[in-house]
Amino acid sequence: MSEGISQPDRPQTMAGESRDLFSKFDETIAMREGLLASGMEDPFSLVMEKVLSPTRAICNGRDTILLGTYNYMGMTFDPDVIQAGKDALDNFGSGTTGSRVLNGTYQGHKECEEALKEFYAMDHAMVFSTGYQANLGIISTIAGKGDYVVLDIDSHASIWDGCAMGKAEIVPFKHNDIEAMEKRLKRIPEGAGVLVVLEGVYSMLGDIAPLKEMVAVAKKHGAMVLVDEAHSMGFIGDNGRGVCEQAGCIDDVDFIIGTFSKSVGTVGGFCVSNHPKFEIMRLVCRPYVFTASLPPSVVATAATSIRKLMHGSNKRAHLWENSKRLHAGLTELGFQLGTDQPESAIVAVIMPDLERGAAMWGALLKEGLYVNLARPPATPANMTLLRCSLCAEHSSEEVETILGMFERAGKAVGII
Ligand code: PMP
Repeated sequence: MSEGISQPDRPQTMAGESRDLFSKFDETIAMREGLLASGMEDPFSLVMEKVLSPTRAICNGRDTILLGTYNYMGMTFDPDVIQAGKDALDNFGSGTTGSRVLNGTYQGHKECEEALKEFYAMDHAMVFSTGYQANLGIISTIAGKGDYVVLDIDSHASIWDGCAMGKAEIVPFKHNDIEAMEKRLKRIPEGAGVLVVLEGVYSMLGDIAPLKEMVAVAKKHGAMVLVDEAHSMGFIGDNGRGVCEQAGCIDDVDFIIGTFSKSVGTVGGFCVSNHPKFEIMRLVCRPYVFTASLPPSVVATAATSIRKLMHGSNKRAHLWENSKRLHAGLTELGFQLGTDQPESAIVAVIMPDLERGAAMWGALLKEGLYVNLARPPATPANMTLLRCSLCAEHSSEEVETILGMFERAGKAVGII
């Protein structure tokens, strides 16, 4: 996500008159009202009335295929995962009501961190209440005033917010551009602390970073490296450790950030690291200290899911098949996609503009297919995208059904 939600010009006010702090949202309000005026369903407030499986839900009373959930490995309905959550509810209650550093560390939090250490074969693991907070906390705590953060311009909002909170100098470079990254690194004063922040998979277009080269360049310039593997965990790499495993550079990465809200199938975030001083983060990282820890049922489901993902190679292979088939099928139909080849479990379909993107989103929903409608500022280059994220639980037949839905909706809306 690029950094800025642009701030419109401030309206003039008369002396003594109070300024409406909401006036800065007028442009967004107008955009939303414009969309709804066309009589279409609000794409940003869909309700899942019942969830039947990782790939099916009832929306507007209709059985709908889910193709926009990030539930890549389909763990949300795994019977072992669900049983672990139920047992933890029975044995530990519904919540911890406290911070990890006070009363909020239960056996389950430690077990979850042990599972992560094993999954990544790393020395340290720290669980946060969300992936957003993991980025916010780790980046802001290790890169403070006087330090530098060199980051891809298309980084996720949580990365930008971590940079802002830490008050380090922020040095962005063009998306996935190794030379641009090196140029920025060369300009940083000698002796300064530098953190390079990269993502394995960029979630808007579903493209991956050239991590081997980028990590090598960062290390050559003495920088520490943090890689957000939110969208690759469980799927990419022989053991599902992510793009840095696939690229063969995981040993040179200082911090991996991840989330439980995608392949793991629940909620939560984490950082794993081999840094010998890493444990001090538990005392100095504010988004870890000053918030309640995850409920026992959540860490129990996460730990069970992570352990099962260690043996997920068959699911990984089927997910790749799904991704390749959807990518090839949509290309054949004439849709413009975010990547030339399938690089991840995300296939982004580029829409000509927000109006037609929203119309296509509505037409797909009527067909019985849910995808994500993504728009600026979340998307790069002002694009409107229909983002499809595949699941290992989508059957090959379902992928063919999805392609038929795209064909009918695309023709009805005039996109193909
Ligand atoms: N990093 C990236 C790259 C993400 O896409 C997301 C969520 N979409 C997060 C971090 C935050 O994860 P969480 O949902 O656990 O807050």
